Amino acid sequence: MIIDGKGLAETIKQELKDEVDEIRKQGGNIPHLAAVLVGDNPASASYVRNKVKFCEGAGFESTLIKKDVSISEEELLEIIEDLNGNEDIDGFIVQLPLPDHINEHRVTMAIDPSKDVDGFHPVNFGKMAQGLDSFLPATPYGIMTMLDRYNIETEGKHCVVVGRSNIVGTPMSILLSRKSKPGNCTVTLTHSRTKDIASECLRADILIAAIGIPKFISSDMVKEGAVIIDVGINRVEDASRKSGYRLVGDVDYDAVVEKASFITPVPKGVGPMTVTALMMNTLKAAKSK
Ligand code: NAD
Repeated sequence: MIIDGKGLAETIKQELKDEVDEIRKQGGNIPHLAAVLVGDNPASASYVRNKVKFCEGAGFESTLIKKDVSISEEELLEIIEDLNGNEDIDGFIVQLPLPDHINEHRVTMAIDPSKDVDGFHPVNFGKMAQGLDSFLPATPYGIMTMLDRYNIETEGKHCVVVGRSNIVGTPMSILLSRKSKPGNCTVTLTHSRTKDIASECLRADILIAAIGIPKFISSDMVKEGAVIIDVGINRVEDASRKSGYRLVGDVDYDAVVEKASFITPVPKGVGPMTVTALMMNTLKAAKSK
């Protein structure tokens, strides 16, 4: 079965809109998300556009702050300070990656954890790891929501996560190993130094690929009936497209689709669910005021 991330995102957007309409009727606090975009990376610009569009669809307020690539770290930190103190803004994100002259860790650390709707701040990460209430990192939260809404059984399953980034692989491995639903998996976290990654993947009931290498997961790395979550978003040249490129995942979709019990496509799989999770966090931030 193909997991329709885009369709599920639309369903949840409508649910969020209904909730926001109710808040509006009662004169409550309308969720307001701000996004800071530095430079002109086309992928980043497209992600931020999608986030602003989702806000409009769900009845949220949004503010886009665009800055030239030449902005200094100090200037960016000042913007973050302003957003931290701005009562009108419930949550905000600084779209990554940032230019090389800006220290991403320092920027992440400057965001008030109570407005960190991307869930990247170590305070939120630490709370997540201990199973405490927090903003979950957007992509893993989107994937957990997907597993939940598709009623995919995770308890007692063996989950293999490929990639150990702070924003996807590592938090995914923590969330799925927690005593929760979805959760209760036995998790193997694999990465660039894993010895025999193919045989690790072959043992997976649930395989989560977050590497950033087109079609890395081939059919012979996948067990019959496995659940495949493809997080990768890779641009590959395609002269037949007007844009000159197309998006592919980290999984060789055409080769794996027949073997999988569930699989997410790229695009229209995990991507829209990441945006959805960001909005769920923003509503949570607005309601906690
Ligand atoms: P990253 O570059 O920070 O981390 C990649 C990870 O893959 C590293 O931990 C590394 O150890 C591992 N890796 C690299 N080469 C490997 C190899 N040969 N074998 C095994 N492991 C290897 O990446 P990230 O930020 O986690 O993103 C991963 C992919 O997911 C990218 O394509 C990114 O664009 C995409 N992404 C998608 C969404 C979404 O919403 N769909 C969100 C975030 C990231």
